[in-house]
Amino acid sequence: MGIVVQKYGGSSVADAAGIKRVARRIVATKQAGNDVVVVVSAMGDTTDELIDLANEVSPNPPGRELDMLLTAGERISMAVLAMAIGELGQKARSFTGSQAGVITDAEHGRAKIIDVTPGRVQEAIANGDVAIVAGFQGVSQTTKDITTLGRGGSDTTAVALAVALKADVCEIYSDVDGIFTADPRIVPAARQIPRISYEETLEMAANGAKILHLRCVEYARRYDMPIHVRSSFSDKEGTWVVRAEDVLKDETMEQAIISGVAHDRSEAKVTVVGVPDKVGEAAAIFGTLAAAQINLDMIVQNVSATDTNLTDISFTLPRADGRTATAALTKAQGDIGFERLQYNDSIGKVSIIGAGMRSAPGISAKFFAALADAGVNIEMISTSEIRISVVVAEEQVDAAVRAAHEAFNLDADEVQAVVYGGTGR
Ligand code: ASP
Ligand code: MG
Repeated sequence: MGIVVQKYGGSSVADAAGIKRVARRIVATKQAGNDVVVVVSAMGDTTDELIDLANEVSPNPPGRELDMLLTAGERISMAVLAMAIGELGQKARSFTGSQAGVITDAEHGRAKIIDVTPGRVQEAIANGDVAIVAGFQGVSQTTKDITTLGRGGSDTTAVALAVALKADVCEIYSDVDGIFTADPRIVPAARQIPRISYEETLEMAANGAKILHLRCVEYARRYDMPIHVRSSFSDKEGTWVVRAEDVLKDETMEQAIISGVAHDRSEAKVTVVGVPDKVGEAAAIFGTLAAAQINLDMIVQNVSATDTNLTDISFTLPRADGRTATAALTKAQGDIGFERLQYNDSIGKVSIIGAGMRSAPGISAKFFAALADAGVNIEMISTSEIRISVVVAEEQVDAAVRAAHEAFNLDADEVQAVVYGGTGR
């Protein structure tokens, strides 16, 4: 008998019918002889609605109170789910994040888990009950206040609990049948991936694929906790996120060089024009941004024109931070000594990801040729060992994703993707 942690996202528990459907799945897992610990998100779009409500009374609500408000969403779903499971003749007990021992730092809205002490959850399962834990929340070790882990954080709660409980697997249920080679809304021929490594999933999540919360994948990789991504609306097998060695072990799988294409429309690009090409300039620019708490993504510095000895430095960052970043740089313009700033938030990033590219030459050439054939202009390029990303105009993102997907033979013969629920909010 093993421990299974199951996480159900908002679209899986959107209404009473959804909660009853999920309850049946949980009871079936329990009856198959497992100890079951469930992590739930708030019902449907509850979290967005609570944020809207907060903004109606305050444009900038204090983090402590906002977290107190948002965590109510998960408390609703956990209690109602426990009742639904009870109706099926199985005892269930719900716990807030704090009761379940999810201990975090004190950063409201983006708290990090520092420890999980799930004594009460263990007691519940030892007693034969199903334990239900509110996702995305914890309690600060220092302030004792209730915290949240950031949007989509229930995935991370689930993996952290799975690790603390030494579970066999962490199952993450949403409204799609697993991880696909691209967003099926852009590429209808996207293919479902049976197995993928932690590293590739991390790159996908970090580059815009909305499959799993980034920190959840980091956590799973660090502690080697297999994640099984599935739909709560179907019985399809879904996707296993495992160690790279375990992907290779699956001999039924053709070893693709590129595992998937991700895209991201949440970034903006800043170009610092006319930077004197001398020691310390980049340090001054990025020091200013760091002091303003800006997280950067890509950075490109041009070669300076020989006659002027001036260069341009471009970087991308979350759109939400655009104003803060340009304001901070403008304030420091006199000290840094650049000519002007350009800001563009009509960009998108398209990335191809695949562990196989480590040992395959010509991947960038093929990617860039496919983009050229599709008439897509490349504005910036960056790479990691297993990823190549380009920045393109926002309106060309779809074309670029489709071109890359086709060029690397990822298109499936038949449409595989079904989106079952969710409002896409
Ligand atoms: N309910 C939270 C959100 O919508 C957490 C989650 O769904 O994982 O972001
Ligand atoms: Mg949600």
